[in-house]
Amino acid sequence: MKKVGIVGAGTMGSTIAAAVSLSGYEVTVFDVSDEVLNASRKRITWIINKGIEKGKVEGKKADWALASISYSNNLKLASELELIIEAVPESLELKKKVIGQIINSAADDVIIATNTSSFSIAELASSVKRPDRFVGMHFFNPANIMPLVELVYIEETSIEVKKKVDEFVISLGKTAVESKDSPGFIVNRVARPFYGEALKLLGENAADVATIDRLIRSIGFPMGPFELIDLVGCDVNLAASKSIYNAFFQDPRYRPHPIQESMVKSGRLGRKSGRGFYDYN
Ligand code: NAD
Repeated sequence: MKKVGIVGAGTMGSTIAAAVSLSGYEVTVFDVSDEVLNASRKRITWIINKGIEKGKVEGKKADWALASISYSNNLKLASELELIIEAVPESLELKKKVIGQIINSAADDVIIATNTSSFSIAELASSVKRPDRFVGMHFFNPANIMPLVELVYIEETSIEVKKKVDEFVISLGKTAVESKDSPGFIVNRVARPFYGEALKLLGENAADVATIDRLIRSIGFPMGPFELIDLVGCDVNLAASKSIYNAFFQDPRYRPHPIQESMVKSGRLGRKSGRGFYDYN
């Protein structure tokens, strides 16, 4: 594969684009408006330049990557792409709609990958023409740095597609792990109590945000739960929490906390909005 498209140029789409283009693929980034695409271009350029500054990216590779990424709000340009990674917000309805638009614009033999954190791949695949060419490819934030990628294959996934997808992820220098198509896959399922217990402690006034984060870091975690929610986005974290909770038929172990809802309703979405559990201004 040489030509890769990424649909949704937010936190994940932009960092995935940086990782993919630095690995030598021609990338087209799609989003709904020029404003978002310009912000994505700035972010990708910043990531690549930071890589040069830190000595992690060679100048030639960076120049090639920066020159080869194109940005578009017209999915019709997707017809020549071999792999398209969907990274729009975690809403089942929106994802189904966007995946439908991708299918209408792309070649029949395109491989479509979704970066969903929590939705069933089999359910999303049920609305596509070629479920044998539809996979889950779950990157972590920021995708240009985090090595892990969860790959989710379903019964229909063909051997050829699995091979191509495995090779693609390995060519990015990432570690691929295969997960069952189960709610939250591996990491987001394991992470539920990490967030949930911290939110309960906060809700009970057992300790404040900074203290809980500090305690968790003191036992070896690189980030505390509230720092991590702010990085992920409180909206994204809430959407994944709700989706996993519902997928397990409201198992109380996975119940989201009202604090998450109130953060989102008050617009405190984390780093991306300047304020979440911490103030970034
Ligand atoms: P985000 O809100 O930062 O970005 C989503 C982007 O999609 C926005 O730029 C938005 O304009 C664009 N978009 C919306 N509708 C669109 C459409 N119809 N066509 C094209 N673009 C459209 O969200 P994010 O945090 O990047 O999350 C994207 C996906 O990645 C979600 O499924 C999320 O669960 C998953 N994910 C997020 C994280 C994280 O830490 N944020 C980590 C792993 C996976």
